[in-house]
Amino acid sequence: MANDDKFKKVISHAKEYGYVFQSSEIYDGLSAVYDYAQNGAELKKNIRDYWWKAMVQMHDNIVGIDAAIFMHPTTWKASGHVDAFNDPLIDNKDSKKRYRADVLVEDYCAKVEGKINKEIAKAEKRFGDTFNKAEFVSTNKRVLGYQEKIDTILKRLGQSLEKEDLEDVKALIEELEIADPLTGSRNWTDVKQFNLMFGTKLGASADTAMDLYLRPETAQGIFVNFLNVQKTGRMKIPFGIAQTGKAFRNEIVARQFIFRMREFEQMEMQFFIKPGTQKEWFNYWKDTRLKWHKSLGLGEENYRFHDHEKLAHYADAATDIEFNFPFGFKELEGIHSRTDFDLKQHEEFSGKKLQYFDHEENASYTPYVLETSIGLDRMFLAVFSNALEEEVLDNNTTRTVLKLPAVLAPTKAAVFPLVKKDGLPEVAKQIVEDLKWDFNVFYDEKDAVGKRYRRQDANGTPFCITVDHDTLNDNTVTIRHRDTMEQRRVKIEDLKDIVKAEVDVKHWLMRMK
Ligand code: ATP
Repeated sequence: MANDDKFKKVISHAKEYGYVFQSSEIYDGLSAVYDYAQNGAELKKNIRDYWWKAMVQMHDNIVGIDAAIFMHPTTWKASGHVDAFNDPLIDNKDSKKRYRADVLVEDYCAKVEGKINKEIAKAEKRFGDTFNKAEFVSTNKRVLGYQEKIDTILKRLGQSLEKEDLEDVKALIEELEIADPLTGSRNWTDVKQFNLMFGTKLGASADTAMDLYLRPETAQGIFVNFLNVQKTGRMKIPFGIAQTGKAFRNEIVARQFIFRMREFEQMEMQFFIKPGTQKEWFNYWKDTRLKWHKSLGLGEENYRFHDHEKLAHYADAATDIEFNFPFGFKELEGIHSRTDFDLKQHEEFSGKKLQYFDHEENASYTPYVLETSIGLDRMFLAVFSNALEEEVLDNNTTRTVLKLPAVLAPTKAAVFPLVKKDGLPEVAKQIVEDLKWDFNVFYDEKDAVGKRYRRQDANGTPFCITVDHDTLNDNTVTIRHRDTMEQRRVKIEDLKDIVKAEVDVKHWLMRMK
């Protein structure tokens, strides 16, 4: 499937199977805001739990909190968001469409990368089994030329943004002859900065109301609680505070479905460390977070690190874990070495000390912070788009199957009576009653069994259990596996263990070891 087609399929499948709906669809929707439907809410919860268990439950030095979305407005002065949380935007004078200037340049580079991939595919075809990709990309003149072009452009973009040289960003767009993707027009305005925070008001009367912001990241709720948690939890450095929750950004280019939303959810962890140890912890968390991703089996080749040229105002090192989405490699998670910037800023703006007393050293200091920050919705998109497959079967029919990691699947097993009579529904319903203490299970008696299997395949359910007439004699059922379509005859009493072995969090998280 071509990538564009695949992405369209992902979006329509998400709607058709009750995963993601456009927000307020009956009023024609709200741009870049989405609702998670009956299956989507379960998948999202399972991803969140998988993260929480790996980060909080499995680390005795990481605890979790749930801070409010509203925070005192000075928080955002201190954090730098009021002055520096901007995106460079550019308008097309003909189409009146607004774009992020850096994204236009990055998309241009992605096209050049597409050319590299074409060269690789061509060579792969030509050389067959003897093809050595690593050697090819490091020696082929055309590929090297394209790569050099990408590197030069991104370096210049990074440097210009760093220096706030917006004129050069515009010059770059003009030199590369980047056109409005919708209309082809190259009639651009200057590049301007645009603050991404949503404002709101707290209080009843207009003159006393306080201007607030909807938080653009969850991290600040952790920083302002650093000392409260450290003291009440008797935490010793190094230790972490984790949190999941909503964040809001008035994104200029809000497209690509749930990849870039205006209301989204983050899963963040701030790890407080001794100054000077940040390099070591940066590498530790890079490695640990990549292992978490890989444990879900979405394909090792679908991840890569992208180290930042342009560092945010708070960071001394930063990298992205990028994932191969249907529209190419894009940021899925950020790992940032945030130094002591945030705690120091909050000390200065609040006038309260936010220092740690190190008993071993008999000294106080402001800890450094290593942050891991992942978008839950982006993770959802990574998992969902990777799982969706159109498989051609031996009999030349196709089946649509959503090969979600079993640990994340919304429904773990569907139970069917072969026919709607002879006491089979009663037995099937009893199996549902017994299994639902441990898993989400679904009962279905409508249509032929083959059709019911296909519905569950498309829904991502790892197991289908069918009760037939033999069940009445020997208490066995057929259990069918979504991915292999293999069917086995098993005892009813063994069902729970069979399902558990595959959906259990431990089974999956052990892969990180
Ligand atoms: P981008 O460069 O894509 O705008 P960012 O670098 O601003 O992302 P961070 O501020 O590092 O992102 O946020 C951490 C994570 O939160 C990102 O890796 C991403 O997964 C998620 N995220 C950020 N903005 C959005 C958004 N608008 N919609 C969905 N997820 C988002």
